Amino acid sequence: YEEVKGEKAQSAVSVGLDQSNSQTQRVNATFVTLARNSDIWEIAKSIRNVEDRFNRNFHYDWVFLNDKDFDDEFKKLTTALVSGTTHYGRIPEDHWSYPDWIDQDKAREARQEMGRKKIIYGDNEAYRHMCRYESGFFFRHPLMMNYEYYWRVEPSIELFCDVPGDPFRFMKENNKKYSFVISLYEYYETIPTLWDSVKGFMKSHPEHIADGNAMEFISEDGGETYNKCHFWSNFEIGSLEWLRSKQYIDYFSTLDHDGGFFYERWGDAPVHSIAASLMLKADEIHFWNEIAYYHVPFTHCPSSEKTRLDLRCHCKPSENFDWAGYSCTKRWFDVNKLQKPDGWDSQQ
Ligand code: GDP
Ligand code: MN
Repeated sequence: YEEVKGEKAQSAVSVGLDQSNSQTQRVNATFVTLARNSDIWEIAKSIRNVEDRFNRNFHYDWVFLNDKDFDDEFKKLTTALVSGTTHYGRIPEDHWSYPDWIDQDKAREARQEMGRKKIIYGDNEAYRHMCRYESGFFFRHPLMMNYEYYWRVEPSIELFCDVPGDPFRFMKENNKKYSFVISLYEYYETIPTLWDSVKGFMKSHPEHIADGNAMEFISEDGGETYNKCHFWSNFEIGSLEWLRSKQYIDYFSTLDHDGGFFYERWGDAPVHSIAASLMLKADEIHFWNEIAYYHVPFTHCPSSEKTRLDLRCHCKPSENFDWAGYSCTKRWFDVNKLQKPDGWDSQQ
């Protein structure tokens, strides 16, 4: 896993395909899924992928969260599929509703206008509560409070390679706080004033901005404007303690008060990504080359044939999005002076 600056990234296999100590060396971590009862068959697929490629050897817990109660069918099936302990939580009302400073008429008009403009999820009210919840609340749900790390899993995802070693342990041992597999540019229409809000935060809380951060990944003019690069948050492995820190909570609170979760359609992906890029050191953020992943419509498939064969991958290398024009992953490698994996140049 180790990323070695200026040198060839170490092969995954040499740093721990071995999962034999899997259970004794487990860290305090859980999978987490936000879902509706109707997501049952799509989340079943995701769980099967995660179990077959990783968790069957580890038995990590899995927390399911929902704004409604989960029904028995959902609980029965997911409990049968997950090899660890499952927990089911209902989201408290005040984490999935309008804060009192939000003008709900203005929010409705914004949805209608974005619907007319055919902006993706532009007219969708529940989607906004979802994005706000994933931005500011899932990590402080009572069921999440005792864990140190999380791995977010959405319905309908696929994993294409054996996961080498234990990503949670890698995070802990290497002091990683946030990690991703796919990055890309956000639709501007969903976030027109997000960067203004971020600038307000940077001004009122300069003490939260990290030395050695990854600002250059998200801004090409020293913080004047946002280039819309973000880590795709339908996959995340990260530190819950970081999200629960005063820094992150101050940041979320500033954004939340500015209202863009409702007056625009701020996604949790740019919200998390900007936070990570400003408040973490760049080397506390990790790119997982070895975790091959699909969420509609993009695939991350390791560039190097050796990696794909060693990890028994079944993804199609020509579908790898990493080096495509709309991906930000090349920029991530370039600004951090990381050496790109073998085979990347034939995939551009
Ligand atoms: P997309 O990936 O941005 O297209 O959005 P998804 O439809 O995949 O939603 C993101 C995550 O939030 C998924 O895990 C969904 O199951 C979940 N989700 C979305 N809307 C709701 C909702 O209204 N209630 C609940 N409980 N979960 C939701
Ligand atoms: Mn999704």
